[in-house]
Order: sequence, then structure tokens, then C-alpha cells
Amino acid sequence: MEECIFCKIVAGEINSNIVYEDDKVIAFKDINPEAPIHHLIIPKKHIPTLLDLQEDDKELIGHIYLVASKIAQDEGIAEDGFRVVSNCNEAGGQSVYHIHYHLLGGRNLQWPPG
Ligand code: 5GP
Ligand code: ZN
Repeated sequence: MEECIFCKIVAGEINSNIVYEDDKVIAFKDINPEAPIHHLIIPKKHIPTLLDLQEDDKELIGHIYLVASKIAQDEGIAEDGFRVVSNCNEAGGQSVYHIHYHLLGGRNLQWPPG
């Protein structure tokens, strides 16, 4: 996946501010934050969109939510509240085609989003 910017972040070929890493996932600060806390949690494995998920990925996606919970607590945004969101395809607002979960918090978030 030579052209995938998030695969390059996983490989360390592009710098990022990593806030969490284990053998399956990495989380880093979004380059264009929409909230005081705005991290991206991604699998190290290249999966283009939510529509590409397979049965074998169920544990991985569950793990991502546990990582989101841990980071939210570590960042001190858990009690006030936060959001985990994943955009799929163009009308869903996806711009990077390596599945990722936005973790947003630190301010009052509007619902529904624009
Ligand atoms: P999407 O629009 O696909 O849901 O979210 C992609 C996110 O990736 C955007 O919020 C964008 O700011 C972020 N992003 C794009 N390129 C980079 C990059 O090179 N580094 C980091 N840290 N974030 C990026
Ligand atoms: Zn990728």
C-alpha cells in the first residue's frame, strides 16, 4: 500500500504525534484538529473502508474501541464526554482510505454533525 498515507505513518515514513501504539493499532494526533482532543485510531493492517471489514476483523475493531476508551480516560475527557466516529466513502466524509476512528473531545460537540 505504497500510496497510503496512514500506512506510511504506521511504517514511520511520515512523522506523526503518536499517543498510543501496540502490535495491532496505532493512535496519533490529527494534523487538522477539530477539537482540543482529536486523535485518529487506526489498525496497522491496511483496510480501505468499513465496507471491507471481514469476519476476521471483529476482534480488531473491538480492540480499537477499548483503545479509544483507554485514551479518553488517559486524556481526561472521559467523564465530560467524547465521540468516536468513522467516516465511510465520499458522502460520509472519508478522505483517507485506510479505516480510522476519530476520537474527539475537550469541548461540547454538536449533533448531528454537518
Ligand atoms: P476522514 O476525512 O478520512 O474521516 O479523516 C481523515 C483525517 O486524517 C482528517 O481529519 C485529516 O486531518 C487527517 N490527516 C490527513 N493526513 C494526515 C497526516 O498526514 N497526518 C495526520 N496526523 N493526520 C492526517
Ligand atoms: Zn493504509
